[in-house]
Amino acid sequence: MTKTVLITGSSSGIGLGMAEAFAQAGYQIMFNGLEKNGAEIAAEVGKKYGVKTHFSGANLLFPDQVVSMVAEAEKHLGTVDVLVNNAGIQYVAPIDEFPTEKWDAIIGINLSSAFHTSKAVWKGMKAKNWGRIINLTSAHALRASEFKAAYVAAKHGVTGLTKVLALEGSKLGITCNAICPGYVKTPLVEGQIKDQAKAHNISEQEVIEKVILLKQPIKDFVSVQDIGALAVFLASDAARMMTGSSIPIEGGWTAQ
Ligand code: NAD
Repeated sequence: MTKTVLITGSSSGIGLGMAEAFAQAGYQIMFNGLEKNGAEIAAEVGKKYGVKTHFSGANLLFPDQVVSMVAEAEKHLGTVDVLVNNAGIQYVAPIDEFPTEKWDAIIGINLSSAFHTSKAVWKGMKAKNWGRIINLTSAHALRASEFKAAYVAAKHGVTGLTKVLALEGSKLGITCNAICPGYVKTPLVEGQIKDQAKAHNISEQEVIEKVILLKQPIKDFVSVQDIGALAVFLASDAARMMTGSSIPIEGGWTAQ
C-alpha cells in the first residue's frame, strides 16, 4: 500500500529535497511551510513523480495548527506513516546580545514543534503498529559553536526527544531517529554566508572556505539529495532495527 510522509518545512531547502526523494520512491507527500507558493510547489512535485500531494501552511509555533495539519493529511492522503520534523530557523549572536524573542522562536520552531507533531501523529501510528519519525537535527545536535545558543540548545533537545520516542515506540512498531547534517547550501545557510561576509569584511567565497566549512574535513557542502536518500532509507523496513540514533552526515566534522 502507498505510504504517506508528512514533512514539515518542505516548501524550501532540505525539506523540499527530501520530499522529492520520497516522491521518487513512490510516497504520497504532505507538504508544509511558510512559503507563499507552497501549494504550487506541492502540486509540481506531485505531477513530476505521479504521486498524490497536499500542502498545509500551518505555522508550527501554534499547536492547534499542527493538529489541524495532521487531520488535513489524514483527510486527503490517508494516515501519516512517516513524519519528518524538518522545519527550522537560525539566528547567530553572542549570548549577551541574543534577542529573547529569537531564543523563544528558535526553541518553538526547532524543538517544541517536533513534540507537537509527534504527539499528533502518535495515535495513528500506534493504531497501525507501524510508524517512522525522522528528526532533522544537525551536527550542532552533537557539537557546539559560538554564537548559536538557541540553535545548539534546541538541536540537542531534539536529540533527547528522539531517544525518548525511540523507547516509547519500541513496543509499538514505531522508530525514531535523527539525521545530523553538516552545511547544506539552502536559503538558511546562504543568509549566514552573506551576514558573515559583511561581519568579517571578506568575500562570500572566503566565508565558505575559512568560516563555514572550517570544521568539515571534507570541504564540500552536503547535498539535499544526500539527505533525501538517508531519510528514505530510515523510513524503509531495512532500517527497522535502527532507533534512537543520531546519524551524522557532515563530511567528518564530528569525527574530530
Ligand atoms: P530553509 O530555510 O531552506 O527551510 C526551512 C523551512 O522551514 C521552510 O520551508 C520554512 O517555511 C519552514 N518554517 C520555518 N518556520 C516555520 C514555522 N513557524 N512553521 C512552519 N514552517 C516553518 O532551511 P533548511 O536549510 O532547508 O533547513 C531545514 C532543517 O535542516 C532545519 O531544521 C535546519 O536546522 C536543518 N539543518 C540545516 C543545515 C544547513 O546547512 N542548511 C544543516 C544542518 C541542519
